[in-house]
Amino acid sequence: MHIVVLTKPVPDPAAAAERLGPDGRLDRAASPAVVNANDEYALEAALKLTETLGGDVTLLTMAPPGATDTMRKALAMGAARGILVTDPALAGSCTQSTMRVLAAALRAQSFDLVLAGADTSDGGGGVVPAGIAALLGLPYLSNAARIEPDPTAGRVRVRRITPTGYDVLDAPMPALIVCTQALGEPRYPSLKGIMAARGKEIAPRSLADIGVPADTVGGAVATSVLLGSRRPPARGATRVVRGTPTEGAAEIVALLEERRLLG
Ligand SMILES: Cc1cc2nc3c(=O)[nH]c(=O)nc-3n(C[C@H](O)[C@H](O)[C@H](O)COP(=O)(O)OP(=O)(O)OC[C@H]3O[C@@H](n4cnc5c(N)ncnc54)[C@H](O)[C@@H]3O)c2cc1C
Repeated sequence: MHIVVLTKPVPDPAAAAERLGPDGRLDRAASPAVVNANDEYALEAALKLTETLGGDVTLLTMAPPGATDTMRKALAMGAARGILVTDPALAGSCTQSTMRVLAAALRAQSFDLVLAGADTSDGGGGVVPAGIAALLGLPYLSNAARIEPDPTAGRVRVRRITPTGYDVLDAPMPALIVCTQALGEPRYPSLKGIMAARGKEIAPRSLADIGVPADTVGGAVATSVLLGSRRPPARGATRVVRGTPTEGAAEIVALLEERRLLG
């Protein structure tokens, strides 16, 4: 089994720094980058599958050159190698550019499965994997809570979470699967894994390498423009009402009357 996992470096959601610079673009220097959390779940699922069925995992990332630092953490979890598509012309790329670039990079690979997160904690479009599946004509299996490939039959079965339970889907491989956190907690890299990651290959790919014309991607041809971004207003003071239901109800009624909110 050869599995490609899409991993995007994102600003650490735990960092307090402003994520955007004055130009509305991501300020990558303001906060440390981490692997997008949902992608770590996809990677964990891929690692478990290859541990059981054999094979290996390749990371695929589109990001600036510094992303190698973040990719090393994912390599330390157990991925065999990484591919980093990086090119100055990619700056400001929209979701459509992102999916075309990642699809072009995948065309040059052989794989049984592509695993991705449902969305990212920075862009949050939740559309890149679906776009890649459409561009490559791959079966698209979303909301996966269980993944059962049958390499001999060349098919994969996925348990997909639905609002009322789950569906069981069956599809030929290669296929693209969007993972959920129900697949299991990502492992922490071991010391041995961290040491091994230092020697693993992260192959850089330019747009020319993957056959994507530079003038078809990037900020100049972005399909939407980010005009601004604001934090939600701070919450007002909160009052917690305690006591028995009768006491609580009486206190809430008194509070509403005090503010003239009851007729
Ligand atoms: C600060 C900021 C400003 C932006 N400004 C604009 C703008 O002006 N105009 C505009 O059109 N777009 C803008 N974007 C969107 C940005 O280009 C998207 O982040 C990018 O296109 C990927 O989409 P997404 O993060 O929504 O991915 P999603 O569709 O949410 O990602 C789902 C999954 O796809 C995979 N994936 C996504 N991206 C990558 C990647 N680069 N490498 C590897 N795997 C990946 C991961 O597995 C991920 O979990 C902006 C984003 C940010 C953070």
